[in-house]
Amino acid sequence: MSSAAEPKVYGWCPGALRPMISGDGLVLRVRAPLGKLSAAQARGVARLSEEFGNGLLDISARANLQMRGIREDAHAELIEALRDLGLIDPDANVEARRNVLLAPFWSAGDDTHAIATGLSAALTAATDLTLPGKFGFAIDCGAEPVLQDTAADIRIERYGSTLILRADGADTGKLVTHESAVPEALALARWFLEQGGAPEGRGRMHRLIARRGPPAAHAAPVARTAFTAKPGTVFAGTLAALEFGQMPAATLAQLADHGDIRLTPWRMLLVEGAENLPHLPGLILDATDPRLQVVACTGAPGCLQALSPTRDLARDLAPHVPAGSRLHVSGCAKGCACPGAAPLTLTATGKNEFSLIRNGTAADQPLKTRLSADALRAAPELLKEGS
Ligand code: SF4
Repeated sequence: MSSAAEPKVYGWCPGALRPMISGDGLVLRVRAPLGKLSAAQARGVARLSEEFGNGLLDISARANLQMRGIREDAHAELIEALRDLGLIDPDANVEARRNVLLAPFWSAGDDTHAIATGLSAALTAATDLTLPGKFGFAIDCGAEPVLQDTAADIRIERYGSTLILRADGADTGKLVTHESAVPEALALARWFLEQGGAPEGRGRMHRLIARRGPPAAHAAPVARTAFTAKPGTVFAGTLAALEFGQMPAATLAQLADHGDIRLTPWRMLLVEGAENLPHLPGLILDATDPRLQVVACTGAPGCLQALSPTRDLARDLAPHVPAGSRLHVSGCAKGCACPGAAPLTLTATGKNEFSLIRNGTAADQPLKTRLSADALRAAPELLKEGS
């Protein structure tokens, strides 16, 4: 049940070629091929962010880099500069289709990397395939899956010595091989369309699966595995978290001095080959930092729909979030920063005024209403009431 002013649902994401207007200018999404920026590309994006935007970069829950505050009159010039960096698709339809997320812990030529490469090429070539704007693929073929909690419509995961393809929302899938994975994934995308998964061009796989179940050939059971990413040394490099998924462009440029950069869906960057990273503005390098327990959307004034600022409050409340819990502060009921349920959610209902929701989404029924930001700061134990 919605408890605040109804947020506007756009149903599409701010791509580079179809940017979205926000409170601080255009938001332009860079969908880096295979989720990776070379050091030169990272430095280039950082320079362009400062030249054409407000010098702030976000990383999205789909592992895309978003350039904020882009001046409308600079859009065309920026697109050309990004094209020179190899970061722009031939047209907006290709960009929309090439929505492939790969588990960040890949090595060149392994199943994850090879299948993601093949699938990206196949989707680019599939000019007859028109999928909804948010429809995406997760290639997650490491020993343990790490993307099961990340939004995607079609998933390819490890299954013992082979691989499994499954539709999001299904707890069974179809066994595939390294060779058959890409054509089978495309066939499943076509099945989704044929089954009426995208009436009026919008829809997600898990909704279709809830209505009619997976295809009959998807009979192998899938195990669920929880994964929580933490900053620190990992296979292939070092993970650095970004406070609220955002960093100054200068931080990205400085990180590029330590290696190529992989974008992750966990609001973290993986710097290839790096063993230690410097403390830079916007980075969280300590796995026990309380800011890792809070998420907050852009809020006011950066988002036109926001009823209140969000991030200062989230930062102030972070040390008071109970161990093992998580706080989501949302500028409106849309809940962009955390579309699923969170243990604690504060949804803005007016300027510096919030509703508290427990174990729900930003649009769910609140436990308490009309909590001012000042009252929450003065008495953060309010977050624990009713638990
Ligand atoms: S949830 Fe936040 S970012 Fe999303 S529309 Fe509402 S205020 Fe804007």
